Amino acid sequence: MTSYLSIQDAIKKGEGTVSIRGWVHRERGSNKLKFIVLRDSSNIIQCVFKQDNFAKKWDEIDHLQVEASLEISGTIKKDPRAPTGYEIEVKKYDLVGKSDNYPITKDQSAEFLADNRHLWLRSRRMTAILKVRSTVFGAIHEYFRNEGFYEYHSPIFQSVQAEGGSTLFEVPYFGNKGVFLGQTWQLYAEPAIFSLEKIYTISPSFRAERSKTSRHLTEYWHAEMELAWAEFNDIIDYGEKLLKHVITRVLETNKAELELLERDYKKLEPAVKKPFVRMSYDEALKILKTKCKMDVEWGKDLRTIEEEKLTKLYDVPVIVTHYPKKVKAFYMTEDPKNSEVVQGCDFLAPEGYGEIIGGSHREHDLEKIKARLREQGENPEDYEFYLDTRRYGSVPHGGFGLGVERIISWICGLDTIKDAIPFPRTMERYKP
Ligand code: ATP
Ligand code: MG
Repeated sequence: MTSYLSIQDAIKKGEGTVSIRGWVHRERGSNKLKFIVLRDSSNIIQCVFKQDNFAKKWDEIDHLQVEASLEISGTIKKDPRAPTGYEIEVKKYDLVGKSDNYPITKDQSAEFLADNRHLWLRSRRMTAILKVRSTVFGAIHEYFRNEGFYEYHSPIFQSVQAEGGSTLFEVPYFGNKGVFLGQTWQLYAEPAIFSLEKIYTISPSFRAERSKTSRHLTEYWHAEMELAWAEFNDIIDYGEKLLKHVITRVLETNKAELELLERDYKKLEPAVKKPFVRMSYDEALKILKTKCKMDVEWGKDLRTIEEEKLTKLYDVPVIVTHYPKKVKAFYMTEDPKNSEVVQGCDFLAPEGYGEIIGGSHREHDLEKIKARLREQGENPEDYEFYLDTRRYGSVPHGGFGLGVERIISWICGLDTIKDAIPFPRTMERYKP
C-alpha cells in the first residue's frame, strides 16, 4: 500500500521520494515535458512529467486536463521557479478520474460561478474561505463549552415569530397555517435556561430578506446564546469575549488563507488587543452629528450608511446600546431609567461590515410583553408557551445572536456575504 502525503507535508519533507494525490489545477506542456500543478486540500505543487520516462503513456499525459484526479509518486526538490518553491519529478502516476472540458476557465462572470457553485467550491479562494469558516465554527463551540455552556437545540419549524413578520418564511405543513422556518432559536431557547442555565447553539436561521444587500442571506448560520441570572452587561461581555476568541483562533490557524485572500489581517488585530467601543444610541447620534455631519432623528433605527460612517471612526467593533424601544423586538427589557429605550445592543464590525451581533436583556414583565406583542399585531395567545417562562420562577436573563457568515465576511474581507457560505441562498438564488 502506498502511503500518501498531503502536498503541504510533501513540501515540508522537501527531498527524496514522495507520493501525493489531488487534482490538476493548471497544466501546460510541450513535446517533451508536461507541467502539472497539482492541488489538494492543503496546497499546490508543480509536477513535471518527462516524455522519456513515459513513452507509452505520453498520449494520456499530454491530454490531462484541469481537475482530473491523479495519484503521483516522484522525487521532490526545491525549485524557486515553481509556484510553491518545490517541484516533483514524476516517476509513476495513476489517472484516477479524468476531467474533460472543465467548465470553469479564467474570467468567468459572478453569475456563471454562482450557477457552477458546486465546482467553484474547488477554487483556491473558496477553499481558503471554507477553511476559515471551519475555524470560526470550531472556535465558537470551543468558547462556549470552555465557559460552561451546554449546546442546546431549538426546532426549525416554529409556530411563533420573534424578529418581525416581514421576514418570515411560512411553510406548507400538512394543511396547517402559521408554521414558519425559525428566524432565531430564542423563543424556544428561553424555556431551556430553567433547566440548563447557560446554553448556546449554532444553527441555520431563515429570513425572507427582500433587500439585495451584500450582507443578507435568506438562510444563514446563527450562533446564539442564552444565559440565566444575567444582567445586560454580562451579555455584552460574553459577546466581546467570543469575538476576541474567534479572531484569535483564526489568526493562529489561518494566516496562509488570509494571505491567499489578500486580506490585510493586521486590521483584525486591534479587535483582539483593545477593548471594543461601547456607546448608547444617544451618544451614537451625537457622534454622528458632530463627527460625520449626519442628522438622525431620535427614534429612527440606524441605517446602513450611518452604521458605516460611525464604525469607520474606530478600528474595533462598536457596541451600540439602549436603542429606542419602538425599533427593537418585543422581548427586550425596558431600561429602568428611561422606559423609551431598551437594554438591547448591536455589535457593529469595523470596515463597514455592519451588524455582527444583536443581543439584549429579556423583559420579565408579563403584561409589558403582552402589550408589546399586541402593538406589533401579534396575538399573545399564540405565545402562551413562551409567556410561561415569565410565570414560573422567572429570573433575569438575556442572550445574543451572531451571524456566522457576517464575521466570516469581515474576517476574510469579502465583498459579499455570499462567499462566506458554500451554497448561498438569497431572494434570487436557491440553486444549485
Ligand atoms: P440587520 O439589521 O443587519 O438585518 P437584524 O437586526 O435583522 O440584522 P438580528 O435579528 O439581531 O439581526 O439577528 C442577529 C444576527 O444575525 C445579526 O446581528 C446578524 O449578524 C445576523 N443576521 C441577521 N439577519 C441576517 C441575514 N439575513 N443574513 C445573514 N446574517 C444575518
Ligand atoms: Mg434584519
